Amino acid sequence: MTKLVFVVLVFCTGALAADFSSLYDVEKLKNDRQRLRDDLDLVIAQEITPFLTAEQLHAFSRIELATPLSAMLDANPLDFYSPGDRKITIPLMTIAFVEDMAQAYSWLWANHYSSRTVDEYLGMLRERRPDDFPNQRYPSPLVALHIPPNAMTDPAVAAMAKRVRGTTLSFILLHQMGHLSYVPSSEDAAMRRNRLDGAEERADAFALEVMKKNSETPAGLLMLIHGMMYLPAAPPKDHPVSEGRLKAMADFLDSRVREFSNGRPDRQLARIAIQSLAGHLRQAGTFLADPKGQELWAEQGRKTNVADLVPRQLADVR
Ligand SMILES: [Zn+2]
Repeated sequence: MTKLVFVVLVFCTGALAADFSSLYDVEKLKNDRQRLRDDLDLVIAQEITPFLTAEQLHAFSRIELATPLSAMLDANPLDFYSPGDRKITIPLMTIAFVEDMAQAYSWLWANHYSSRTVDEYLGMLRERRPDDFPNQRYPSPLVALHIPPNAMTDPAVAAMAKRVRGTTLSFILLHQMGHLSYVPSSEDAAMRRNRLDGAEERADAFALEVMKKNSETPAGLLMLIHGMMYLPAAPPKDHPVSEGRLKAMADFLDSRVREFSNGRPDRQLARIAIQSLAGHLRQAGTFLADPKGQELWAEQGRKTNVADLVPRQLADVR
């Protein structure tokens, strides 16, 4: 019985929704508004529109893209949604969070630190409340993960952060465009046990189908998936992550390794990156379907403090 209640709590994503608006100061977001919007527009110009078919480009040009400070209700740092037909909303808080997470991942990677602290940070956010932190505010990624202010002066960090941020934002936009473009037929929907999973899988496939043609392998996808797993948004802004969805994404990548690596500057490296990404997505699916693992992870999140998130050299990680 206890186990059943636990499983229901974990997979009923709405029950876990929290308000994360304290992550970023409103004035800071207002000050950064133009820069964040410019970043998003650059991703669209460089990583999306050149790779759409004429028909998709026409559909995309009719979509109104809104970037408010944050979502009206239950603000989540990975909110993206459609408030109506031909509308996509990506709050500035989401763009800022993706940017900070990309910088954190990239600095840790370039300095041979483990990315486990990033996951522990997400687990901490999920399990704790703003009152647990100074000034009753959730700590933002760069603060919580002890990333130095000059992190982006290292060209390797800056280049990796650009890739991670660009591919994450591309996936977000294209996934949401997939939701808007795809209208399931009644038979198709009836064939699926879980209609919602079907909608997510199709939106993922739409995004990856376009991304296999663009200039970067989807370096930010795992970061985004982990974020959506640990910090599920409240309906109707949610994109439920399930073992089936992760397996479908991994299968998609595995079956198209050649297409993803063709045309890349280093095909062998691209092939390894895609296969590794597919493997990590499968692992995340296995973890998601393991109630005991989820229970231990929640316990870890409840115990984690900012002081525990000091970078750890890879050799020190057991
Ligand atoms: Zn979705």
